[in-house]
This record gives sequence, C-alpha cells and structure tokens, in this order.
Amino acid sequence: MARIDDLPPLREVIAAHGLSARRSLGQNFLMDLNLTARIARQAGDLSGCDVLEVGPGPGGLTRGLLAEGARRVVAVEKDTRCLPALEQIAAANPGRLTVVGGDALDIDPGGLLRPPVRVVANLPYNVGTEMLVRWLTPETWPPFWESLTLMFQREVAERIVARPGGGAYGRLAVLAQWRTEARIVMDLPPAAFTPPPRVRSAVVHLAARARPLCDADAGALSKLVARAFNQRRKMLRSALRGLAPDIEERIASAGLEPTARAEQVPIEGFCALARALERSRASL
Ligand code: SAM
Repeated sequence: MARIDDLPPLREVIAAHGLSARRSLGQNFLMDLNLTARIARQAGDLSGCDVLEVGPGPGGLTRGLLAEGARRVVAVEKDTRCLPALEQIAAANPGRLTVVGGDALDIDPGGLLRPPVRVVANLPYNVGTEMLVRWLTPETWPPFWESLTLMFQREVAERIVARPGGGAYGRLAVLAQWRTEARIVMDLPPAAFTPPPRVRSAVVHLAARARPLCDADAGALSKLVARAFNQRRKMLRSALRGLAPDIEERIASAGLEPTARAEQVPIEGFCALARALERSRASL
C-alpha cells in the first residue's frame, strides 16, 4: 500500500503516546491511512478549503485530510493525551494544522476558520448526533460550512437519509434533508476500527442547500418534529395536542390529515405546519 505521508504508522504513534482507547470517550480509532485518505476524499476537493475536524484522536483522519490537500485543518480534541501526537502532525505540516484541546460541544472554533469551510468528523454516536443537529439548526442559512462529512453507526446514517413512510424516518431525516442534500457515501465494517465496535459504520455526506427546501423557522420546526416523532405511533392530532387549542384546524390548514402519523408527513408538510403554528402564535 502506498504511504500517504512520512510520519510513523498509527500503531507506533498510539504506542509511543500511550493512547489506549477509552470507552468513556467513544474511542474507536481508524488505523489504515489509505482508508482515512479515502474518507477524506468523500468531502470533495479540499485544496481551497479550511476543514474543521472534530475528534481527531491520534490523527488518522487528520493525516488523510492533509494528504488529500486540505488548505488548513482545525482539529478539536477533548482527550488531552492525544494532543502531543497531533502537534507532531502539525510540525510536519507547517501552517496547515491547528490543534484545539477541549470539548467540541463547548468550543466555537469559528474564528479560526476561513471560508469556504468543510466539516469532517468521526465522533462517538451521542456527540455526533448532537453536533449534527447544532450544525443543521442555526437561525440563519446558509451556515458557516459548505458540507458535513460524518461517520455514524450505519443505523443512524440510515435515519439521516430516510424518506417518509418507513420506521427510520424521523427528526434527523427532516432536519438533515430540509437544509442539505444527504447521502451515504461509504460503508465500514467493524474491523476497520481499533477496538472494533459492535455495529457497522457509514459515512454520510451532507451538502448545504443554497436555500432550505421550504420556509420555516429552524427553532419552531425542530421543536415540532421532536414533538411529532416523540409519539410516532399516534395520529398527529393526538401527538401535537396542547400545541394550540385548535390543533386540528391548524393541521388541516397546513394541508395535512389530522389522522396522519408523523412518519407519513413529508418535510414540506412539517414546514407548512410549523408556519401554521407560528401564525397562531402557539407556543411550541
Ligand atoms: N478521528 C479519529 C479516528 O477516526 O481514528 C478518532 C475517532 S474516535 C471514534 C472519536 C474521537 O472523538 C476520540 O478521539 C475522542 O477522544 C473524541 N471526542 C469524544 N468526545 C469529544 C468531544 N465532546 N469533543 C471533542 N472530541 C471528542
């Protein structure tokens, strides 16, 4: 296999810095640098872009991003044990890697990034979905990023790209596809990681739409779909009871059947309903 850079193999880096994987930080490391370069390629041509990487760990994906020509990478890592290994990558790529130690849920690295920006991450499941929802729901659009290329458990990836009518369709699908074009671009078996997780993984690429699919306030839509899918087996009129005294009329005025279930409602229907509820000044 061709080498992607002149730095030591990841196994040596992990041994040298004592980076035994910690379950509490959701650490499953990618060890094959040809594979990390392939993942980096899913983010498109990086040569004119700054990349925000969240959770670089020992730096396998970081090295892939740099080898694929990213103009600059800003990498935010919570585990302080990883920082010296990441600084070695920075030293080998002068001016192209900025390492930020801390929790990505608390840090806003926006000031370090120059547009155009692409986001690439292999995060633990719970942090990954929380970050995804944050990236998808800023008040104004377009966001600070052009695309998100993110690793998830395969089952979560399927929920992000799901279409109405099936069990996988829910809040993540509505929020993701409302403002982005989302598709699964790679599948990874457990053996690609050390230690291997129990489930398969997949890379999802989300390209920001210039304009959302339909008009709605991000906060109102987000709260509405959370409520609608919280009781997904119920009819809309029951699941949304309490949002407005005349909820059945509001649902009908959005062009929806009050007896429909959330998983049958397309994104345009949720947007219309969010607007109808805003008009009634209902508090969600
Ligand atoms: N990117 C590396 C790779 O692909 O081999 C590591 C992936 S590992 C699944 C997840 C990484 O995210 C770990 O390095 C972990 O320490 C880091 N991490 C977990 N929670 C984080 C958080 N809240 N903020 C920043 N990094 C976090």
